[in-house]
Amino acid sequence: SYLDYIDSADSRVKAFLTVTADSALMKAAKVDKKIAGGESLGSLEGLPMAMKDNMCTEGIPTTCGSRILENFNPPYDATVTERLKASGAVLLGKLNMDEFAMGSSTENSGYHPTANPWDLESVPGGSSGGSAACVAAREVPFALGSDTGGSIRQPAAFCGVVGLKPTYGAVSRYGLVAFASSLDQIGPLTTNVRDNALVLNAIAGHDPKDSTSVPFVKPDYTRFLENDVKGLKIGIPDEYFASGLNSDVAEVIQKAIRTFESLGAEIERCSLPHTEFAMPAYYIIAPAECSSNLARYDGVRYGYRAEADDMIEMFKKTREKGFGQEVKRRIMLGTYALSSGYYDAYYLKAQKVRTLIKQDFDRAFAKYDVLLSPTAPTTAYKIGEKSDPLAMYMGDVYTIPVNLAGLPAISVPAGFVDGMPVGMQLISKHFEEGMLYKAAYAFE
Ligand code: GLN
Repeated sequence: SYLDYIDSADSRVKAFLTVTADSALMKAAKVDKKIAGGESLGSLEGLPMAMKDNMCTEGIPTTCGSRILENFNPPYDATVTERLKASGAVLLGKLNMDEFAMGSSTENSGYHPTANPWDLESVPGGSSGGSAACVAAREVPFALGSDTGGSIRQPAAFCGVVGLKPTYGAVSRYGLVAFASSLDQIGPLTTNVRDNALVLNAIAGHDPKDSTSVPFVKPDYTRFLENDVKGLKIGIPDEYFASGLNSDVAEVIQKAIRTFESLGAEIERCSLPHTEFAMPAYYIIAPAECSSNLARYDGVRYGYRAEADDMIEMFKKTREKGFGQEVKRRIMLGTYALSSGYYDAYYLKAQKVRTLIKQDFDRAFAKYDVLLSPTAPTTAYKIGEKSDPLAMYMGDVYTIPVNLAGLPAISVPAGFVDGMPVGMQLISKHFEEGMLYKAAYAFE
């Protein structure tokens, strides 16, 4: 029935790049047999789901939203794919995204834009726009997205769903096509907080195949779902309510703060003084890492290859035709920032700023359990409305610092402005996803 629904709904939402109907039906039949045979079932047995198209799925196209990976069928599964399979979840397909996860609206997809189910003329956010839109449209009960600077949380906010970016190192990046390796994390998008905890249970945990994966003791995240935030210390960072924040969005978030207050949480204003430097630091670090990560798309090893007379010409033409505008912009920015003579002035400086931002959070978390802010300064805008890349970048001011510091953060629906959803962001200490679930569950 989910496949039938996707068949009709997705012609309007356009969240999917690939629908894996045949393998899904085969898997569903196996689940039926398991149930009939009284076999033990996985934690997500039989649940339909879909994945952002930058996570490797053996034998199933994984395009990263890019023409350069058109027809690329990975020879192996990402660790998250393996873990979801092991838990019994059924893959219904792969989801649209901004090319190589670079963007905030899914308009940078090399294939087609995705619509926001709340208003088909608006963007679903990005870069995990397909993941948020398909969950909001109820085409699947859950989806996976990836978040380098806000790409799970911002589309979750725009589409009125729950999206978690886990602590850096909590979920394996093995088989996630790299954008900016020191920032990328995979996480769940769901319709509610409990589902989110259930999916995180299935995908989190140490993986020796990812050298940045942390061998931490993984709790059962559902045990944090108790309706009690009495005495919880919540910090409200002033810098996240400064100019640029839409006043109607601010009003929804202020109301959410009052809700926490009425539930017995202790609310206090605080400061993260280096916030304004997060954006410029991110736009050095992320492009620098991307320029290195994307060097592998040369027409030889993966996907698209342009016709040419000699090898160098072939490299050039493949990259010229295969990559879109935004990806090329980032590769050029990153190559420049890393070039000799500029490395110290840009990349090294940005890394130092990154440390200052992390220290801001460390100081705040000495006092507070959770920090609360809007997820994005506005609600979803119309498709085609934001053509200036810098204006687009500014939409990530509240999400980017979290990635630079490697912290976990969740976006939960907090209300509406003119019929469009508003997301509230909660941030906590490293590996304290449980704290986020506790607060988000009580609020929901
Ligand atoms: N919008 C940000 C960017 O374009 C973040 C993207 C992401 O988190 N993948 O880089």
